[in-house]
Amino acid sequence: MKNKNSRKNQKKSEKKRLKRANKSKQKRLSEEKHRIDSQKKLDGLTNLLRMLPKKCSFCPEPFDQNQPGALDDWQATFRGAEILYRCPKCNENV
Ligand SMILES: [Zn+2]
Repeated sequence: MKNKNSRKNQKKSEKKRLKRANKSKQKRLSEEKHRIDSQKKLDGLTNLLRMLPKKCSFCPEPFDQNQPGALDDWQATFRGAEILYRCPKCNENV
């Protein structure tokens, strides 16, 4: 009787182990997906940085790539394949 019971417990813990293994596989998969997603995001950002302007499209204001938050202040407008960048000063004058 005692024996039977312990065997049952063993089976149960085996099932639990399998379940856990399955879960960690799922987690790995979602981590992998996340990694690819952030890689894609990074690529997009790199592309964006490569297309950064040297200066404002509407005035001679130079674009400072090293200034933190510069991209936030500048307004990018798409005109066909061209991207027009408007500096904060020009933004104020709109
Ligand atoms: Zn400007």
